[in-house]
Amino acid sequence: MKPASTDTANGTDHGFFAEVNSMFDTAAQHTDHPKGVLHQIRACDNIVRFEFPIKRDDGSIEVIRAYRAEHSHHKKPTKGGIRYALNVNVDEVMALASLMSYKCAIVDVPFGGAKGGVCIDARNYSVHELERITRRYTFELIRKNFIGAGVDVPAPDYGTGPREMAWIMDTYNQMTDDDLNGLACVTGKPVGQGGVRGRTEATGRGVYYGIREACAFKHDMDALGLDTGTAGKSVVVQGIGNVGYHAARILQDEGDATIVGIAEIEGAIYDPSGFDIHDVVAHREETGSILDFPGATNIEDSYKALELECDILVPAALEGVITKANAPDIKAKIIAEAANGPVTTEADEILVEKGTLIIPDVYLNAGGVTVSYFEWLRNLSHVRHGRMSRRFEERNAERILRAVDELTDQSFDEQLMEDLVKRVGFGASEEDLVNSGLEDTMAFAYEEIRTEREKHGIDMRTAAFVSAINKIAKSYADMGIFP
Ligand code: NAD
Repeated sequence: MKPASTDTANGTDHGFFAEVNSMFDTAAQHTDHPKGVLHQIRACDNIVRFEFPIKRDDGSIEVIRAYRAEHSHHKKPTKGGIRYALNVNVDEVMALASLMSYKCAIVDVPFGGAKGGVCIDARNYSVHELERITRRYTFELIRKNFIGAGVDVPAPDYGTGPREMAWIMDTYNQMTDDDLNGLACVTGKPVGQGGVRGRTEATGRGVYYGIREACAFKHDMDALGLDTGTAGKSVVVQGIGNVGYHAARILQDEGDATIVGIAEIEGAIYDPSGFDIHDVVAHREETGSILDFPGATNIEDSYKALELECDILVPAALEGVITKANAPDIKAKIIAEAANGPVTTEADEILVEKGTLIIPDVYLNAGGVTVSYFEWLRNLSHVRHGRMSRRFEERNAERILRAVDELTDQSFDEQLMEDLVKRVGFGASEEDLVNSGLEDTMAFAYEEIRTEREKHGIDMRTAAFVSAINKIAKSYADMGIFP
């Protein structure tokens, strides 16, 4: 059922939303859903645009423009980040909200897609001003019924983080004090305010799991002239912020991959024999730059790092960095889209034609929303994941070990028993459970996308959209259209 729309705008035939819809239309050709259902899936349900005043620290009053778009209500609540950026506009929030619907469907997170935006450059405001802006924005969302654990659940995006999410949660709770599920009105909160352990690294960790899945298929790796597995694969990462740093760290530490290139704002570094990501981060903290890292070659034009010789290129900074201008020079065999929209449509065509395996953003960076879902579940159940079972699991493992001891007449000495209990008898912590749920989600979704890819002989991005469309269409087929 679609709630009444506050704005009937559905975007124009150009721009970001039109671009997402064009990807949708390409994928829809590989499905057999009725035209009306496809139209319903594509359409953006609700958009609210509003302006509100805030008092600056110097006493002056400034009027701020803001948006929230709820793209699809086939599942409730809707879910998506809030970005603080000067260039936020209606087309962008609609496009990003629609991508959230598809992303959630791909990884089986039971939410519709949404996105919010406030037209400010956060760097131009004091912390007190940002708090007033965030609280007033939240107040407007409450008044318009655009926030709530079962309605619409924001999260961090560009320019916002755990601090803003805590302000949103507090404002919501101050104003709706009979809502027992108030904590679940927003995700990405600090752990002490109802956040979940493992959320900070979730997107980067999901990127690693997605790459690991892609590298596990012999047929696909043979086509690229690569061995299976991530071990020994050379990796170039653009941007070592939240997503890029954790993706690189886990690729190196858990996947045994070799990081050979890193690009940041100040330039790029390259060493074909590889460097340790922890050492590079320590060097940057000490000197303020990744440049001049011992043993590595400096590359002045950071963007040139995208063209370095490597097996896997991980753009994890900005959108639109691989265009038709540099696509022919990209040498990576796999492009893992950790950022949103790093490859333009024209570049995508060139790369697919070249045989590059592109693991699309709409799947690969879904780790953040997946773990947000775990945070929401934690808030609704009012208990930390694992709290009820951890000690029980530990005791149970100890009981099993003692039974083995008895049955085999081994008579383990107490020290050995203690060691064994420590090694095999630990109960899962919240972080263990979150990471395990994330791993399972990314692996299962990859398998589904790959199946669509094989079935229709299409690229992975189109296959990911086919997977999303089929799942949302099934929702409509099962529940019907109201009234
Ligand atoms: P971030 O701000 O933490 O990191 C971005 C990094 O890119 C910074 O270190 C910045 O210095 C670097 N950078 C900026 N311009 C650059 C340039 N020209 N060349 C090289 N490096 C440059 O942001 P983030 O949260 O890591 O997000 C990165 C991307 O991932 C964005 O596209 C975002 O939308 C997407 N994403 C993030 C999440 C999440 O949970 N954080 C979830 C899904 C998608």
